[in-house]
Amino acid sequence: MIVYLNGSFPPKDEATISPDDRGFLFGDGIYEVLHVYDGHVFRTESHWRRLRSGLEKIRLAGCEHLDWSSICNELVRQNKLDQGEATIYLQITRGPAPRKHAFPVNPTPTIYGFAAPYSSLTAKRLSGYRAVTIPDERWLRCDIKSISLLGNVLANQAAADAGVDESILIRDGRATEGSHSTFAAVFDGVIWTAPLGNLILPSITREVVAEICRAREWPVREEFIEEGKLIHADELMVWSTTTEVMPVVELNGKPIGNGQPGPVAGRLHEEYARVIEQEKGVLV
Ligand code: PLP
Repeated sequence: MIVYLNGSFPPKDEATISPDDRGFLFGDGIYEVLHVYDGHVFRTESHWRRLRSGLEKIRLAGCEHLDWSSICNELVRQNKLDQGEATIYLQITRGPAPRKHAFPVNPTPTIYGFAAPYSSLTAKRLSGYRAVTIPDERWLRCDIKSISLLGNVLANQAAADAGVDESILIRDGRATEGSHSTFAAVFDGVIWTAPLGNLILPSITREVVAEICRAREWPVREEFIEEGKLIHADELMVWSTTTEVMPVVELNGKPIGNGQPGPVAGRLHEEYARVIEQEKGVLV
C-alpha cells in the first residue's frame, strides 16, 4: 500500500511518525473519511469545508497550502483503486514536540493519508442493522472530528459486546448520534434527526440526505428524539460516508416497526445512490 505522509507517497512500511507526535501523545488532531466510487472521491468540497473548519476549531495552522483533492486522487491512482469502492482516511495532527499540554511554539503538522478497498454494504442493507442504546459519555465538542475517539471506541465496543452492529448514544434522555454515524428516525412520514451543534458531528451524509429531502419535499425535523420514543418509531436508520443510508431494524433486542428495513430508508438510499451516480461523472 502506498500512503501519503508529509508531502511524499511512500510504501506504508516506510512511513514513520515520531513517538513525540502530539497525535500519539495527546490525540491532538483531526481526521476525515471519504468514500471513493469508481475512482471518484465523493463530495470532496464538503469534506474540505469540514476539515478546514476543524483545523480552525483546534487552532492548527500550516495546512492552508495543501491541495487535499490532489492528495486523494494520487492515493487512488497509486493504489489502483479507480474501479469499485474504496475509502480514504486523512489525519492531521499538531506534529512532534516535547510533551507539554499547551501548543508548541511553531508546530509542524503531521499529515497522513491512506486509501483502501471497501466492500459495499449492499447485502447488509437488505437485512438492516441491529443496535443498542448506551449513554453518550463523550466530550462536549462532538462537532470536531477529533482523532480522540475513546468515547466512540467504547460505545462501538458496547455494540460489539452485545453482538449488534451499532450503538445509539443517549445524552440527557435524548438520542444524539451513533458511535460512528448520524442517527435518524421516522415518525408518521417525518424524518427526525438531531440538530447541528456541539453534540453531534456535522455529517456529510446528513448534508446529502438533507439536500435530497429538500428536493423531494420530504419533511425533516432537526430535533432530538427522546429515548422513550425510539421504540415507537416507524423506522430507525443511521447515515455515514461509509455505510451511506442504513436501516436499523432492531433496538435493544426489540423490533422497530415490523422488524424489516422500512420504505423511507429504502427510498432515501435509492436517491443517495442516484446522487453518487450523477456526481461520478464530475471532475473533483
Ligand atoms: N457521527 C459520528 C460520531 C461519526 O463518527 C460519523 C462518521 O464517521 C458520522 C456521524 C457521519 O459523518 P459522515 O457522514 O461525514 O461520514
